[in-house]
Amino acid sequence: MDFSYTAEQEAFRGELRSWLERRKAEGAFDATRHRSLDEVVHEGRRWQAALHEAGWCGIHWPKEYGGRSAGLLEQIIFQEELARAGSPQLINLLALTMVGPVLIAYGTEEQKKRYLAPILRADEIWCQGYSEPGAGSDLASLSTRAVLDGDSYLVSGQKVWTSYAQYADFCILLARTNAEVPRHEGITMFIMDMRVPGVEVRPLRQMNGDSEFNEVHLEEVRIPRENIVGTEGKGWELAVALLMHERATLTFQRQLQSRVALTDLIRFSKEWDALGEPPMKDPIHRQRIAQAWIDSEAMRLTALRHLTRQLRGGHPGPEGSMEKLFWSEMYQRMLIGAVGMLGPYGNLAPGDEHAPLDGRWPHLMLYSRGRTIAAGTSEIQRGIIAQRVLGMPKDR
Ligand SMILES: Cc1cc2nc3c(=O)[nH]c(=O)nc-3n(C[C@H](O)[C@H](O)[C@H](O)COP(=O)(O)OP(=O)(O)OC[C@H]3O[C@@H](n4cnc5c(N)ncnc54)[C@H](O)[C@@H]3O)c2cc1C
Repeated sequence: MDFSYTAEQEAFRGELRSWLERRKAEGAFDATRHRSLDEVVHEGRRWQAALHEAGWCGIHWPKEYGGRSAGLLEQIIFQEELARAGSPQLINLLALTMVGPVLIAYGTEEQKKRYLAPILRADEIWCQGYSEPGAGSDLASLSTRAVLDGDSYLVSGQKVWTSYAQYADFCILLARTNAEVPRHEGITMFIMDMRVPGVEVRPLRQMNGDSEFNEVHLEEVRIPRENIVGTEGKGWELAVALLMHERATLTFQRQLQSRVALTDLIRFSKEWDALGEPPMKDPIHRQRIAQAWIDSEAMRLTALRHLTRQLRGGHPGPEGSMEKLFWSEMYQRMLIGAVGMLGPYGNLAPGDEHAPLDGRWPHLMLYSRGRTIAAGTSEIQRGIIAQRVLGMPKDR
């Protein structure tokens, strides 16, 4: 790592930190209580609108589209400060980090005018329609079909694991417009209105009791031609570009969020004595906590090394896979350790009056299993690292 923050960047940090502290003191957000999904979405919309009003939303977007044209370091400072303050995750994160930048780069003027401002204010929520029952890791095998019919396409097929689809106004959708060409070339990206006839959302119940993701069934859904993003048949390139946007600065936010959770865990493990002695007195829990701290520090330093490379003009590279793999597995280990500390109390779910910390840890621990699957499974990340970092031969 060889960079330091300029006076302007430090001033940016100071301004944001004091704004967040003020809003926190006023009760604008409170990360210490477990929330239902409906509450998360409802409060998340309000919080994002407040951030937007104060000029803190989509800071990496160009000024002409409502952002601040912030550089990489400001984006990292922004995420660090949000995590440090315990701010909830922005509810329209997919649209802010991926859909918006892709529309800015490849969308038509009409699309920019229509969709960008409501994304910033969280007036319209977006979901991502990529995965299908037969296409996840191997996304290019997707089979949802879009057939041209006059001035629009008729789209039929099924998407799955679509996060927040039940709340979404729009979906960034991948569908096959040409089955005769090599499979990567026949895919097109569409903007799909979630409220039109033929779209049916069926929530899936997860093991932590939430229904964050859904099946989305599409039956001859009519999508106007002007809702294509970029060019017909070029959806694959856009989909990959969209994923790169996701990975650019996420690591710092993840690292800080897990560091904040770990700091809470340490405090709790010194104080909580419902099982007799505080868990910190137990050598096994102590070692797990120390290991979690070492992991979190290793992640921070790796992220800084990656950042240095990007600041020197390099592009985000396969390090993104190392960070995603390491973080998602580290986060699971940490939460398994946290639930282990609770002993029999670790079985108590949110809503149980005896559940320590509102049952947050068991709930998060169950949720954390999905982290090693979403955005590319651990096996896929290991494959990328083997080939692109270690130069090992390609899997057959
Ligand atoms: C919490 C969560 C939220 C999600 N949100 C969304 C969303 O909003 N929109 C969306 O489109 N998708 C979403 N997904 C789906 C996610 O992108 C897929 O689950 C993921 O890409 C894996 O695909 P799959 O589930 O079809 O598993 P598969 O690809 O069928 O994989 C099954 C198993 O085989 C392994 N495997 C597959 N290929 C290889 C290989 N080449 N080498 C070694 N092992 C391999 C995998 O690692 C896995 O263990 C979400 C998933 C989760 C868990």
